[in-house]
Amino acid sequence: MTHPPAGVPARRRRLIAPAAGLAGLALLAGSALGPTASAVPAEDLATAPASSSKLDEAQPADRQFVAAAPTCSDEPRELPVNEFTDHRELGVELDRIERVSEGRVDVEEIGRSNRGREIWSARVGEGDTVVMLVSEIHGNEKTGTDAILDLLDWVGTSDNRKARQWRSELTIVAVPKMNPDGAELDRRGNDQTWAEVQARFPQLRGSDPAWNYYDEPRTGDDYGSAPGFDTNRDFNPDLGYVPDPDDFPGTSADTGWYITPEARTIRDLYQGLTMEFGEVDTYVDLHHQGACYVMPDDRDEFVTLSISGKFVADPATKPDYAEYADDYDLDYSKQLNVAVNRALQAKAAERPLFGNVTLYPQDIDLPGTALGSFALNGSGAVLFEVRGQTQTLGQQYRAVLTRAVYVGLDGMLSSIASGQVDRLDPDEYDAIPPRGPSIGSAEDEDEDARVLAEQRKAG
Ligand SMILES: [Zn+2]
Repeated sequence: MTHPPAGVPARRRRLIAPAAGLAGLALLAGSALGPTASAVPAEDLATAPASSSKLDEAQPADRQFVAAAPTCSDEPRELPVNEFTDHRELGVELDRIERVSEGRVDVEEIGRSNRGREIWSARVGEGDTVVMLVSEIHGNEKTGTDAILDLLDWVGTSDNRKARQWRSELTIVAVPKMNPDGAELDRRGNDQTWAEVQARFPQLRGSDPAWNYYDEPRTGDDYGSAPGFDTNRDFNPDLGYVPDPDDFPGTSADTGWYITPEARTIRDLYQGLTMEFGEVDTYVDLHHQGACYVMPDDRDEFVTLSISGKFVADPATKPDYAEYADDYDLDYSKQLNVAVNRALQAKAAERPLFGNVTLYPQDIDLPGTALGSFALNGSGAVLFEVRGQTQTLGQQYRAVLTRAVYVGLDGMLSSIASGQVDRLDPDEYDAIPPRGPSIGSAEDEDEDARVLAEQRKAG
């Protein structure tokens, strides 16, 4: 690997002349780009990757999926998850993809979880625009893992024009199961005790446990006998941060510490890619949210997916973040989300539930999340929050929700690879409807909602 010299500009905004073809002509003529417009020819879009084209057609069960019912509940239940890809199966599948791609997809162990499970990355493409895709930072949020495997399989093996464009323009680095210990336990947090943290960081011996440490039962999971941390609050925009006892226990409004091996692994990967390419263009985190959110303008319909590009306060207005103000690029994050939304809205013509996309709450300031920390470091940032976690919907709608993630990622990656993303209007992001309320019961079982509510109370 050749490393660029220090001082590489933080963002190489590409100025791309309108491409030849229909999208380019439309742009030259000054007409608005339609929701499906792209620099990729239509015949290539028709051969877009799909585990099954049936997944894009309306199905009889769709009505049941979207129809809001007062019985909706986030109350945790024991539901099967065997249809999702577990850690062992992930290893087998990544091996297979590496093999059939004839080396185009390069799989590497980039770290180990606290209980010693491999954390794998899969890298594909030779382009100088780097996109990181991370799934299962919360171990009970599993559709992103399967969507990433479908994507890797396609981009690693297809020879159509779109796949070739992705491989020549992009370097995609996916971590399909960031928190394998939590994933095996089918729960949000990792599997790590405060005593283990103190053993590694002796300076914390007199400190109270971090606020995001779970050591009693919650959302149906037994953290009493196997405590753990919400690893998605363990990030810090200061990538070289060393845990300081004065910063504990902290709150959800504060930065994290890199005390979990899982967060350190992602931080190290991010830093390595920044060294190699000058920047990580885009960072995507794949999550699930509560099962009972409805559309704001139609409370008879459930939200399929919430998305977001905003995770922290504007560094221009918050002195704590001043050093990041030059790199932070909210408009680019908005453009990336617009690309995700356009792809899903285009698919909604055939299967309407793909159109039930809303914005995740925008009034948040969470610098301890991976998205918040990396956005402050200048990456475009995209959050997917698919409907329902394993303890609420289980694997019931696994295929269609995995497909929704796939369609969104496909649209975003195509838009980055073609350069179209730079021509999208950030204001279109603000027109995506906000998430409606959670109906039914037990909203406080939605862990993210609970954390946000606590933060609003405190702030
Ligand atoms: Zn999550």
